[in-house]
Amino acid sequence: MKTALYPGTFDPITNGHLDILERALDLFDKVIVTVANNSSKSPLFSGDERVALIQEIIEDRKYANASVVRFDGLLVNFARNNQAIALIRGLRAISDFEYEFQMALMNRNQAPEIATVFLMPHERYTYLNSSIVRELARLDGDYREFVPPSVYKRMKSLYPTK
Ligand code: ADP
Repeated sequence: MKTALYPGTFDPITNGHLDILERALDLFDKVIVTVANNSSKSPLFSGDERVALIQEIIEDRKYANASVVRFDGLLVNFARNNQAIALIRGLRAISDFEYEFQMALMNRNQAPEIATVFLMPHERYTYLNSSIVRELARLDGDYREFVPPSVYKRMKSLYPTK
């Protein structure tokens, strides 16, 4: 039984995140999406709401081997407690590399037995991130193609069309 964690802020979850999650589900027996609060990013959605949005998508799409939890501690501790052997991260562009490289090496320093696995999304998602979606929502842009319908609906209720 090979378990991986997919950690992130997911504020909100986008189709790019889901592309990575689906690729990870093809490779591992179980994937736990771990939602960090990330107060430094002053999130739009509370941690609990981000978890609820992801839970709904997992159920809608019938991802039998995926689950979602909130976690704000040291990731490798959570990985060990859940017998996870890998951390999944998405790599979009070179700009992601420096930060991801540092995180991966520090996590390996803390827990050498846990691997970081980088997956690349479909090209159509390489320029997508949650903060662009939040900007488009706030400024009344069109972001329907970037998020699942439930997230779109929730964001529209926060930022109705002017
Ligand atoms: P963090 O705050 O840890 O960067 P995010 O919620 O932004 O977390 O993203 C979680 C993970 O998903 C990161 O590895 C990030 O690179 C990846 N990711 C985010 N958006 C995309 C995307 N459009 N395509 C592929 N991977 C993505």
